Amino acid sequence: MKFRLIDTHTHAHFQAYSKDMDEVVNRALDEGTAMITVGTQSTTSRKGIELAERYDGVWATIGLHPSHLHKQEFFDDNELPPEKRVTGKIKTRAEWFDADEYRKLAEHPKVVAIGEFGLDYFRLPPNVDREQMIADQKTSVEAQLRFATEVNKPVIIHSRDAHEDQFEILKKALDRGDIPELGVIHCFTGSAEDAARYKAIGFLVSIGGIVTFSKGLQATVKDIPLEQIMLETDAPYLSPEPKRGKRNEPSYVKYVAEKIAEIKGVSFEEVAETTTNNAMNLFKLKV
Ligand SMILES: [Zn+2]
Ligand SMILES: [Zn+2]
Repeated sequence: MKFRLIDTHTHAHFQAYSKDMDEVVNRALDEGTAMITVGTQSTTSRKGIELAERYDGVWATIGLHPSHLHKQEFFDDNELPPEKRVTGKIKTRAEWFDADEYRKLAEHPKVVAIGEFGLDYFRLPPNVDREQMIADQKTSVEAQLRFATEVNKPVIIHSRDAHEDQFEILKKALDRGDIPELGVIHCFTGSAEDAARYKAIGFLVSIGGIVTFSKGLQATVKDIPLEQIMLETDAPYLSPEPKRGKRNEPSYVKYVAEKIAEIKGVSFEEVAETTTNNAMNLFKLKV
């Protein structure tokens, strides 16, 4: 079966869908939208694989998000199960990237990439020195780049307010001969220049719901060639227009495709076909 659209970055296995996960997944699949459900720490990486095992058209990734490196009271109650909730907030435990643990998960045939990991200078955990946090994030990125090289899989990079440092780390890794399978900068909101620099080192960018309401990102996307673009929702977060303010879900990736078609003055089908091919090639998806 050939899929029409691929939501290349979703969290369909998160707690936000505990009551209706199968409905949400089927709603997308029934419309011909496949998805890659992305892990953010060891527990959610494992849960993503469990979901991917149950469906054709759902694949998983494994990785450690920078927000999980330090212990913090987290504002996000979409991700973790209720028993981890503390007075309405989520307490994340600090986790370090344990290659041995992730190596076992990487052997699963449904695991198509390592990530999401990367640098996030926006969400600063309290009581952690900024310099130390950045140093820890960089160490974690290096460890996961080495790991991706070892297991020969592409990477999904989360980069927020950190494109300078992020680019430098990727470039250095490539110069060393790491990252043979390349990767994607997910939820891309950088400049056209940032996108061009990533393109020069072979990286794709994935565009999410923000493009449906951000004039700045719309202007940027105009200058990014379709051949470099994949689509995503980052569900349950960042719902696109016309679903803004509601819980996001993989089937809404169509609104992202519609907006990109409008911005670029091409057909929906052209956006769908090119971005789906980009995803199939990067993640070596077998359908
Ligand atoms: Zn992210
Ligand atoms: Zn994400």
